[in-house]
Amino acid sequence: MTFRSKAIEVALQRQPIPLVPPVEKITELYGTNTFHEDTMRTLLSPEAYIKISNAIRAGSNIDREVAEEVATAMKSWAISRGATHYTHWFQPLTGTTAEKHDSFFDLTPSGKAIEKFKGSALVQQEPDASSFPSGGIRATFEARGYTGWDPSSPAFLMDNGAGGKTLCVPSVFIAYTGEALDYKAPLLRALNMLDKAATSVCQYFNRDVAKVTPTLGIEQEYFLVDKALYYARPDLVMAGRTVFGHGPARGQQLEDHYFGSISPRVNAFMVDFEFEALKLGIPVRTRHNEVAPGQFECAPTFEEVNLAIDHNALLMDLMQKMAEKHSFKVLFHEKPFAGINGSGKHNNWSMSTDTGINLLAPTTKPKENLRFLTFLVNVIKAVHDNADLLRASIASSGNEHRLGANEAPPAIVSVFLGTQLTRMLEDLVSSGEITLEKGENFYYKLGINRIPHLFRDNTDRNRTSPFAFTGNKFEYRAVGGNANSASPMIVLNTIVARQLMDFKKELDERLNRGEEKKIAVVEILKKYYTDSKKILFEGNGYSEEWVEEANKRGLSNIKTTYEALKVYTHEDTIRLFESVEVLNARELHARYDIELENYIKKIQIESRVMGDLALNHIVSTAVKYQFKLAQTARSLSDLDMNNEAEPIKEIIREISEHVIIIKKLVYEMTESRKVANNLEDLVEKAKMYSLDVKGYFEEIRYHVDKLELVIDDEDWPLVKYREMLFIR
Ligand code: ADP
Ligand code: MG
Repeated sequence: MTFRSKAIEVALQRQPIPLVPPVEKITELYGTNTFHEDTMRTLLSPEAYIKISNAIRAGSNIDREVAEEVATAMKSWAISRGATHYTHWFQPLTGTTAEKHDSFFDLTPSGKAIEKFKGSALVQQEPDASSFPSGGIRATFEARGYTGWDPSSPAFLMDNGAGGKTLCVPSVFIAYTGEALDYKAPLLRALNMLDKAATSVCQYFNRDVAKVTPTLGIEQEYFLVDKALYYARPDLVMAGRTVFGHGPARGQQLEDHYFGSISPRVNAFMVDFEFEALKLGIPVRTRHNEVAPGQFECAPTFEEVNLAIDHNALLMDLMQKMAEKHSFKVLFHEKPFAGINGSGKHNNWSMSTDTGINLLAPTTKPKENLRFLTFLVNVIKAVHDNADLLRASIASSGNEHRLGANEAPPAIVSVFLGTQLTRMLEDLVSSGEITLEKGENFYYKLGINRIPHLFRDNTDRNRTSPFAFTGNKFEYRAVGGNANSASPMIVLNTIVARQLMDFKKELDERLNRGEEKKIAVVEILKKYYTDSKKILFEGNGYSEEWVEEANKRGLSNIKTTYEALKVYTHEDTIRLFESVEVLNARELHARYDIELENYIKKIQIESRVMGDLALNHIVSTAVKYQFKLAQTARSLSDLDMNNEAEPIKEIIREISEHVIIIKKLVYEMTESRKVANNLEDLVEKAKMYSLDVKGYFEEIRYHVDKLELVIDDEDWPLVKYREMLFIR
């Protein structure tokens, strides 16, 4: 009996775990495992509450006394709910979350047991984090790294599974020398810059706006695979994706899985993790089957960007934990299965004011629509001017399989607006000279007041655009399923902040020359629109014609990760990031190195697991099967049935051909890995992994997948696609 058949037997016997829905209403349940503002209001002194509340909203500093009071309140709140430990919870550049649990328990000098959580421990910790990637920023002799409390994201209680809870304090992670070693620190800086820049632009239209908050709703796609089947696939365990596997007869061509009814076992898992998510203050709202069999999606209501990103990271973690209980494994990898859709993480992004305006929502009022157009066109210009940076921000070994691989949005960054908006912007440009005479309806003349009210509902959809306007927000759809959204959000918020600052400068210059405000705004927008037009594309982004057209337009189409990342170290990039104080040159170089290293390591693992599977699982099985066939052929020959033996010999030959090629290719791949590993230069190494080592993957896979079709199903050692995708 193969490991595979045992695993299938186990998987087939699973039953959905009966759900015990909580007695409370969702509104009562929501956020109960977080130390949120309402809790603070009841537990803190009024003075401390006001200070912390200001820190959350306006980013003001928290003094030690307040920190002390908050820590004490947090401690008693957490302990009363069963917490024994606390940790700073942060997002190092490995792409996962990190935590190091310390016990509340301590001893006094006289040996008495106490529970302790001091303000200083809340504010700052020094994890022994020397093994987190730092891209050379932190040499081992100065291996210190600090984590620092981010009060704008509520502390929460994490269930560790087998009893025991930990108080998690969302934190930034920085080096001794002050450089950011994580995603959160630069993200907070970028969001702050965007707030400032957008607020000052907003004030041309609405004087009372004092704060602009970027908002983000992250749709998360994922696959579920039965746990037993998962562990019977070493490639899934090691690399998160299948390196071999022939596509099933029925993939996604019938499109019957999309929005189809959800199987009871999957449903039990979803309901379960959603309740836990809600308790953690993650506002999960929608769930459905996705296009591919075994693929699903979960989406929360949008929140402030920093919070949305913490919540997405937490959600991914939570989903893995809860999947365990339901004997599933969650795959967030961008392309776990060849031949069917991969998983993305659509980033729905907009900006809203403290007066309740969504700056990317068109309205019926022409005056407000000039504001809308201002923000819209500035975002388009920012994307146009920094398309390569946006591309770099989503580059990873996993996403390489999606981008440009004819299923997900292409590696070409383009913006989709929809027919109505496009027509409107065209009108704006072509409406000719703008003279403003008294009593004239300026907006009407420009056509700006023609944006229909229910824009959101009649905006057309384009599922093939990487960066699409969807009625009242932009949706960056090219982000990978496994990514930390902070990476694209750092870039997006930075480039839009920079762009809005430039816009303001230009506008002020015109106003100082005595130009009428509305005219000046429109003139600048016309220019921006015309300059940025080549980034706009309304057609099928997956088509070959678009690749040609984009090439003609001079748009980049960067397919490999190592090339995409390069832009992080360009002079323009450094100037841009330094001008808004989001990342400095050292931090950018470090990030570049870390991403390259991540890439190299991932491909190295894939290559190793591929070689191992090919030789130890596939070739060995093939040879055994050949032996069986040879025995049969010999028996037939013994019976003088040479004609009957011939087709069997034919199969033996066919298997041999594949085996010989596989062995040869695996040998060559291993040799090329050796050469790559000896390269000192990181860029050269990444390049070699990308082009040479990875260059073998497809061909090895081709021959292995052919063998899968020839060798007796009973003997085949790897769980097949149809089993992973359909048993649940
Ligand atoms: P769609 O069907 O276009 O995907 P949904 O309304 O389902 O639209 O929204 C998808 C995601 O976009 C959700 O997470 C939602 O909360 C988010 N979203 C909606 N409005 C905004 C906004 N103004 N800013 C950021 N995200 C938003
Ligand atoms: Mg969507």
